[in-house]
Amino acid sequence: MRQMIDSFNCVEDCPIFADMFDFCRMYAGGSLAAARKLCAGTTDIAINWSGGLHHAKRGEASGFCYINDIVLAILELLRYHPRVLYIDIDIHHGDGVELAFYQSNRVMTVSFHKYTGDFFPGTGKLDDNGSGLGKHFCLNVPLQDGIDDDMYLSIFKTVIDDTVTAFRPSAIVLQCGADSLGCDRLGAFNLSIAAHGECVNFVRKYNVPLLILGGGGYTIKNVSRCWTYETAVLVGATIPDELPATVYDSFFEDSQWKLHPPLTGKVDNQNSPASLQRITISIRNKLRYLQGAPSVAMQEIPPDLMGLTGEEDRNAEERDEETRGTGRAGDGRGDPSRARNEFFDGENDIDRDEDETPSTPARGRGAATGRRARGGRRGRGRGRGRGAATPATAVTTPPREEGDKEPEASVVVPPRRGRGRGRGRGRGRGKAVDKEKDKEDNPAAESSVTPMDVQVDV
Ligand SMILES: [Zn+2]
Repeated sequence: MRQMIDSFNCVEDCPIFADMFDFCRMYAGGSLAAARKLCAGTTDIAINWSGGLHHAKRGEASGFCYINDIVLAILELLRYHPRVLYIDIDIHHGDGVELAFYQSNRVMTVSFHKYTGDFFPGTGKLDDNGSGLGKHFCLNVPLQDGIDDDMYLSIFKTVIDDTVTAFRPSAIVLQCGADSLGCDRLGAFNLSIAAHGECVNFVRKYNVPLLILGGGGYTIKNVSRCWTYETAVLVGATIPDELPATVYDSFFEDSQWKLHPPLTGKVDNQNSPASLQRITISIRNKLRYLQGAPSVAMQEIPPDLMGLTGEEDRNAEERDEETRGTGRAGDGRGDPSRARNEFFDGENDIDRDEDETPSTPARGRGAATGRRARGGRRGRGRGRGRGAATPATAVTTPPREEGDKEPEASVVVPPRRGRGRGRGRGRGRGKAVDKEKDKEDNPAAESSVTPMDVQVDV
């Protein structure tokens, strides 16, 4: 037993405790359910503040994280969405998520974090950009202590805007770790709750299906303030700076019961405009490799099949929600390995599913079909009873590479990386660069996002 505990790193930051399995099941299940609802189109924004445990690896717990609910949720999103953008604003590097998709070109990971070399987890330097098929599909924004609101928002908005333009995600996952706030017990940034929330608002405005997750945060009352404020931002509500009277009043007395206490200016800012500009330029150069290189083409399913199964699935979903509530939408499907709206079976799924009507062969990376695929999803999910939407199936077109042959190949077999703070940094990442691959991809497939209403599950 001792050997297993060590093997899975259930020591130090990740102790074993009573009901650990139930704890993991709840927060990971919440993120999975959220991803299913986004795939089903029954919501545009889903929130799981108990999720966002971004350090956990396939083979070990790490940094208070046991199961990586983010990776599980992204895998679920990839069953429907061709490209998922993962953004991480926790002060710590999102190493577990980055590693899981390090060789995938369907998931772009962007992490903003403190990086000094010895700050946990020790990874996330500017030059770590993915490998194999995933080369250039990983970005890191390493920052220093004390970054303030203006600097953070400036680099965040620039990097995210450039990334969304280049990658064109069909879904976004945002990890909102609150340890990047000022006055955090473990963090060292100077962010206010308003600025942290502005990052969330900025991502929301892309109107791409959005999964919002929690993460770190060690000055608890500020974590609760931050995620309360961000929930309001996501539902489009304005809430007062005065906290309502609750049984927790004594907890917030030192800040005079304010939602936005002053958190900034506590740590000297060791970032400079020049250092941030260097990062921004470097990232912009990296993104040039992505221009016109979406990794997945869309293929249309014939309308007759769509009309039949789409209606059936929608009715089943509706019945399910009526009897069990929307929170468990999608749970009742017969085959747990197959989502009701699953059109994408992994990167080997270049053939049609057996229940699909034969149609035209996979085309090149055309623009029109990608756009129709989106319309189909929304039409089925949110527009109940409204016009005939057109589902589509997504197929990959890039050539296979050695070591990337499993059906769910977007999860790479992670090379073991060092565990514990500061150990084993930078190990285990292949540096193989397929430069030919970079050049071969064709111009971008689909257009930018379509405005849609905000619906929120909390
Ligand atoms: Zn953290």
